[in-house]
Amino acid sequence: MQRQKLLINGERLKNELERFANYGRTENNGVTRLSLSEEDRLVRDYFCSCCEELGMSIKVDDMGCIYATLEGVEDKPPILIGSHLDTVKKGGRFDGVLGVVAGLEIVRTLVENHIQPNIPITIVNFTNEEGARFEPSMMASGVLSGKFEKSVMLKKTDSDGIVFEEALHASGYAGERENRLKDAAAYLELHIEQGPILDKESLSIGIVECVVGMVCYEIEITGDSNHAGTTPMDMRRDALFAANNLITEARKRLGAIDSELVYTIGRVNVFPNIHTVIPNKVVFSLEARHKNQEIISLVENIIRELPQSSLTEGCAVKATKLWDRDTVWFEKEICNLLEQSAELFGYSHKRMVSGAGHDAQFVAGFIPSAMLFVPSINGKSHCEEELTAWEDCEKGVNVLLETVLTMLSK
Ligand SMILES: [Zn+2]
Repeated sequence: MQRQKLLINGERLKNELERFANYGRTENNGVTRLSLSEEDRLVRDYFCSCCEELGMSIKVDDMGCIYATLEGVEDKPPILIGSHLDTVKKGGRFDGVLGVVAGLEIVRTLVENHIQPNIPITIVNFTNEEGARFEPSMMASGVLSGKFEKSVMLKKTDSDGIVFEEALHASGYAGERENRLKDAAAYLELHIEQGPILDKESLSIGIVECVVGMVCYEIEITGDSNHAGTTPMDMRRDALFAANNLITEARKRLGAIDSELVYTIGRVNVFPNIHTVIPNKVVFSLEARHKNQEIISLVENIIRELPQSSLTEGCAVKATKLWDRDTVWFEKEICNLLEQSAELFGYSHKRMVSGAGHDAQFVAGFIPSAMLFVPSINGKSHCEEELTAWEDCEKGVNVLLETVLTMLSK
């Protein structure tokens, strides 16, 4: 049966995103809405009032995640739409909130068209995705998926010494364990790209195939400290010169592997870090991300070969793996539906990977999940300049709605 193509209300979506941004809006039109802060409590209240107005029922779980459900004809596992309402300090108006407001706009469109879905639709707000106030990030979805231990998470503190558990209770959003997300037909998360690719290629929609895996090493170089003025150059074992050589070598070799590989030396510590003393120790991190495990293995081979390099200036070099994380692949069938929906509307699109972490990567462990990206202008995110064109937000939600309708018609 041919069903009518439904469109969301772009103007209403824009107004709602601006309304949500009022909770914690900064001087420069960004948002500071740290998890379980007063701003977060107020935006949660507002979100719940919007959902109740639409006749949705609200549940809260023991990690403070909110689930607002529009009843279906049949009482079956719902289609889940959502993301997070918390932000980093001086963050933007789109990261996270777009995925939640998208759910709201989809339900509004269904309700005003008198469509009762045959299975329920649930909008979810995951607590503390950003990890900006309480580390780690994706805390609640991590607990729900069994990746993090709840008792450990409850004891996490913010920079003022406030414990997560206290903040959760103070917010009024400490709910029941039995309300936790267990089963759903699908989880759909619309999110801004937080990178420059879609914007640079003038595309509106990114169908996210995976969240890329990564590996992180620590390289420790040990040389000799001595007087910077009296020690001839050929009698030194300078750990920083060795680090410089090895970083250059690693960059050259990693750069030759694959154009999609990204790698970062984000932390370097030099000891004793005194200008009159030859450095006797340098410790630096080296992380790399790629969707294919074979590429990550090549990266690890290169890192493990660094200690045997001829470029070590006579210093001892040790490479230690700190941790790694496998690529999380999203549900192929849902990715195909998202792609078909984008095509139906004639929106420009491509398949891509996510280099950043999202709640969906944990949820994907127990619910068929997929993500959709819309462009971040100039690739800016986690800052007040974060911006996505309103038309692109609208397109993203249209694709999501179409995908939901296709799922419901099956
Ligand atoms: Zn986010």
